[in-house]
Amino acid sequence: MSTIADNIASVRVRIARAATRCGLEGDRVDIVAVTKTRSIDEMEEAARCDVIALGENRVQEALSKWDPLASRSRIPWHLVGHLQKNKVKKAVEIFSCVQSVDSPELASALDKACAAAGRRLDILLEVNIGEDPGKFGVSRATLEILAEGILQECSNLDLKGLMTVLPLGLDERGTRMLFASMRELRDETESRLGLSLPVLSMGMSGDFEYAVMEGSTMVRIGSAIFGGRIN
Ligand SMILES: *Cc1c(COP(=O)(O)O)cnc(C)c1O
Repeated sequence: MSTIADNIASVRVRIARAATRCGLEGDRVDIVAVTKTRSIDEMEEAARCDVIALGENRVQEALSKWDPLASRSRIPWHLVGHLQKNKVKKAVEIFSCVQSVDSPELASALDKACAAAGRRLDILLEVNIGEDPGKFGVSRATLEILAEGILQECSNLDLKGLMTVLPLGLDERGTRMLFASMRELRDETESRLGLSLPVLSMGMSGDFEYAVMEGSTMVRIGSAIFGGRIN
């Protein structure tokens, strides 16, 4: 077995252990392999393993890898990084899900681009649950308004759930508290708006086990699969 396949298998084992510790089922947690800075060969190798999608954080980089990889693998691509409005049209050409929707303007631009392209797009709403000024995402307080607007006005978008990136440097307790807040926020939003938000995208290489223990359904893993990043 190759290293990438080994690493994905070991992430899967760690997810299962974390889930079991909390009486949850680890096999309902999806793995997205985050492939920023990784080569086409590494991406293709990951795509053959137990991952549901490849995650890129910049449209420009994703575009440069799309043509060579799309001819070799049909795996879906997710955008996990911030999206600027001038890149929306390109994003709609390659991504099957945009996990980082954080404003009504961005949602509306995506909706229009989807209408023009004759396609639908899965989206997640990014929540800045740790209120980190250096991170993107809506606050807890504005999430409901954003979700409501999208349901009413963006008929080409399928709102699937929420995503978050935590601030750096939290201990176990702080990390688990914020992940638990995300789950509660998801549950509240579901019941207040009467909709289903099955996806909770939370957990990266350094904290995915805590995320799983608090109810994550999708972890986004880069370095634990591919090794440390050079840039
Ligand atoms: C890079 C990145 C990840 C993966 O980070 P690792 O720590 O390498 O696992 C996950 N989510 C987002 C939004 C990222 O930009």
